[in-house]
Amino acid sequence: MSFIENFPPISGMTILTMTLIMLMIPEKLNKLIILTWTLNALPVLLLLATHPEELQTPRGYDLLFLFGPASLLVLLIIPYQRSLKSHMDKIHFDLKNSREEADRDFLTDVFNRRGLNSWLNELEDNSQISIMLIDIDHFKSINDKFGHDIGDHVLIEFASRLRTVYHGTHALARWGGEEFIVVIVNSTRDKIQIVSEMFRTALSQLPYKEVGKITASIGVSQVNSIDGFSTMVKEADTALYIAKNHGRDQVVMYTGSLTKDLLSDLAPEKN
Ligand code: GH3
Ligand code: MG
Ligand code: MG
Repeated sequence: MSFIENFPPISGMTILTMTLIMLMIPEKLNKLIILTWTLNALPVLLLLATHPEELQTPRGYDLLFLFGPASLLVLLIIPYQRSLKSHMDKIHFDLKNSREEADRDFLTDVFNRRGLNSWLNELEDNSQISIMLIDIDHFKSINDKFGHDIGDHVLIEFASRLRTVYHGTHALARWGGEEFIVVIVNSTRDKIQIVSEMFRTALSQLPYKEVGKITASIGVSQVNSIDGFSTMVKEADTALYIAKNHGRDQVVMYTGSLTKDLLSDLAPEKN
């Protein structure tokens, strides 16, 4: 009796199932799959190729048309599909990285406005937020005195100090130039006042490398829903303006009436 007839019964369905399982096996086992397949299929194919009398039987053709295409699938198509997949994974990874980079400020690595916007969009609609605008005092004179590069280093150090203050859910972004914005979620006005003082202290307590002591002024908006974001920015900006005009290195919390009084006090100075 010939070898072919003795070969265990194996159907197209069995081969299909085996190749599908191989497709799902982790990539690191690729070599093992190929080796196992080769050890099983190659002897059969070699035997068929070298023994025409065995090939030219219904069972011989049957095995040739089972192992032949399946070998092509395992040895060529699976590795190709795997390399395509790893290529796609890399593209996906690079895309994710560049999206993250697009959301970050190049110099300080905190969010830029775009990043902050995406972060705000992810908040629940009913969240209450408050905004803090933090501006370095007399930063222009640091640039003038020490040069723009040192000014850049100060901005980096300033941003990393801003990162050290922890308060529940909040986001930190560079709003522009030497001005940063902190958005605090679902907190109370009292707590926000404490936190903004923590920010001010963290920023001004220790001297900065090469330039020494620096201070910052902070304007804080009222607590409101996310829809009121642009109004809150204006409130924080008004409070910041008051902080600047009242000697800098301080926190001013926006309150409608108090702010109007303070602004009218300052009006003559403005002109
Ligand atoms: P104030 O206390 O009123 O805020 O005074 P200030 O000097 O900090 O504010 P002003 O708006 O007059 O100057 C801001 C300076 O910040 C001017 C600008 O050249 C500088 N600046 C903005 N962006 C950068 C930056 O990325 N790097 C450096 N080195 N300087 C920057
Ligand atoms: Mg400034
Ligand atoms: Mg400024």
